[in-house]
Amino acid sequence: MALSPSLICLLRGARLKCPACGRGHLFTAYLKQAPECDACGAPTGEIAAEDGPPWLTVLMLGPLLAALTFIAARHETWPLWIRLAGLGAFAVGAVLVMLPRVKGGLIGALWTMRAKD
Ligand SMILES: [Zn+2]
Repeated sequence: MALSPSLICLLRGARLKCPACGRGHLFTAYLKQAPECDACGAPTGEIAAEDGPPWLTVLMLGPLLAALTFIAARHETWPLWIRLAGLGAFAVGAVLVMLPRVKGGLIGALWTMRAKD
């Protein structure tokens, strides 16, 4: 099965790699974009994801966290403070893991739609 070029760029970005070549790093820090790819020189820093990554992260994790909240509310064998602390820790951890990957995927998707000179 051959993947479309757009999907390949999105997946490369979600792996935090350059959407053009898939080898260079997309970020220099947690969410700080590199101005250009360190492997191929593609100007990936020109792609601005703006507010899309936080919005998409909430959209993706919200239903899961809502479901886990209802499950935890019905699971009364554990004390409330353990359920709340566990849910809070899971929510923070999931956001910290997902946010750079969502930003990378969005940058990869936008890379395929950029204006070509
Ligand atoms: Zn590259």
